[in-house]
This record gives sequence, C-alpha cells and structure tokens, in this order.
Amino acid sequence: MRSLLAMILVLTVACLSPSSTTSTATSRPTTTVTTSTTLQATTTTTLGSTTTTAVPEVKALVTPTGVVVAVLGETAAGYQVTTPCGLEATVSAGTPLYEARVVIDPGHGGEVDTGAVGANGLMEKNLNLTVAQALEAKLVVREIPVLVTRTADYASTLGTRTSLSDHVGADLLVSIHHNAPTPGSSQTPGTEVFIQHQSRDSRRLGGLVWRHVVDELSRFEIEWAAAPDAGVLEVLSTRGNDAYGINRNPKTTSVLAELGYISNPPEARLFATNGYVQAASEALADAIEEFLTGDEDGAGFVLEPRVFNPQPGIGGSVCVDPRLE
Ligand SMILES: [Zn+2]
Repeated sequence: MRSLLAMILVLTVACLSPSSTTSTATSRPTTTVTTSTTLQATTTTTLGSTTTTAVPEVKALVTPTGVVVAVLGETAAGYQVTTPCGLEATVSAGTPLYEARVVIDPGHGGEVDTGAVGANGLMEKNLNLTVAQALEAKLVVREIPVLVTRTADYASTLGTRTSLSDHVGADLLVSIHHNAPTPGSSQTPGTEVFIQHQSRDSRRLGGLVWRHVVDELSRFEIEWAAAPDAGVLEVLSTRGNDAYGINRNPKTTSVLAELGYISNPPEARLFATNGYVQAASEALADAIEEFLTGDEDGAGFVLEPRVFNPQPGIGGSVCVDPRLE
C-alpha cells in the first residue's frame, strides 16, 4: 500500500512537470474541470480502489528567461503558451503559476514602444517596470498572489496583457503609466486613473488608487503638473466605449493609472529616485489591499467622461518576441 501511495505521488508530481514525458501524457485523464476553478482532479484507479488527488492547473509560466506567459495546455514536448506578441509557442520548462489575484501591467516596453521620455532621459517603459516590480515585492510580503505582465524590456501586445489577467482569473488588473505632455503646473500631483465604463468595481479600485497615490506623492514638495479634469474618470472614444484597450478588453476589473507627468522636469527628476519608487509602490499596494479586503470607495471622482481617441497599442506586425528559453 505504501508503494502504491508513493506511485500515486510520483504520478501527481509528474503531472506538474512537462519534462517528464510519457507518464504525464498517460497518467493524466483529461477531466478538465471548468475554467472557473483552479483545481483539476486526477483520479487513479488501482485494484478496485480509487484515489482522487487535487492537482492545481498551471495558468501561467515564468519561462527560463524570466518571461511570463499564459499556459494554454501541456503536451509531452512542454507547455503550450501564448508569447508576449500573441503567438503560440512551446516551452519545455519553467516555473508554473497557479493563481494570481492581482495582475500588474508595466505599460509599454521594447525598442519601438518606449512610452514618454523625460528631459533627464528617463524612459517611461523602464520607470513603469521599476514601480511594478517594487509593487510586486510589496504584495508578495503581504501574501497577495501577484503576476506582472512584463518582466524586462520587451514588447507585448495589449491583447496579451489583458488576456493574461482573464486567463489567470485575477480579481484586478492595474496598468502603470507616467503621463505626457505637460498640461500646466499644479500645487498637487496630477494623478489620473482611467476606469472601465459603467463598472462599479473599476470605479472603486480607481478611487482607492487615486486617493492613496495622491496622499503619498503630496509629501514631495515639487512643482507638479495636472490637467483641469485630473482624477478618477472614464475615457471614452468617440464610439462611446472605453478608449484604452487595457480597460476595454478584459473581463477582469482594471484601471490604468497615470501616476504623474514624466514630461514635467521636476517630476522626472523625482521619478528617478528610489524614494519615489518606494512611495508610489507603497501607495498602490495599500490601494490594492484595501480594494480586496474592504468596501471603501476612495476619492477623486470626475463625473464627466473625457472623450479621446488614443493611438492604437503596439501591433503584432511590429512586436518582437523576447527569447523564452
Ligand atoms: Zn504610458
């Protein structure tokens, strides 16, 4: 009996690793449960007795080169994944991710899509990533399962970013950006949080993000920049739907946060400091934790939607995938 249990355990572990080939393919009955659950049941029947072991379903993977990808399935050759540019590929190994309540999206990335650039040379794509990784570290300490859509300087389509959050069944998606061009000077931070059209959850998440970020950044006494309608608002295209794909595409509750103006030289100088990165990431962590655990609404709500037709995000034709392994 002991050896039978040991065998079941080995088979169970084998199911988690695509590198152990034939036993994986044969030992795992494809009783795929619904996508709303993170567990699959592996049933092993031997000598009339049935043992059911819950095996977590791999939703995403950190590849050997550190790229986070959605997992579509597993074969003897490895994990079938969606690349950052939205193509299908097979990856032989990696660190599986089974759940993420929070998805953090560092806006922009790669050679073509740098985002805005400050007068001091600070690039938005790098700043967004630095803040996202500091936020990830803080959420890990708070034991909130988190996934970052981009882990280095490479391109990623909007569709990949948003479908990743839906695929892992996240409770929320926060896309981090720094704004341009400078609209005018202000006594207070010009933080803008774009929320999903007619979504109460997105509105509440946006209100908490805005309140925590503005509270935290207000401690820095610099000349800020702000638009007249800065705050928590819907941005709609002239067709009447969410102008930004990060809000329009996912089923996941999402917000796009423009924390400040990288185009404003005093802000760009501040953003290049570790003090800013720690303050911004702490504020975002506080907002996310409050969203997940409380029912407060936050602040900064702007009633009138802004109407704007943004440039489309990076398309598949100019997207260059990073090496996955
Ligand atoms: Zn941006």
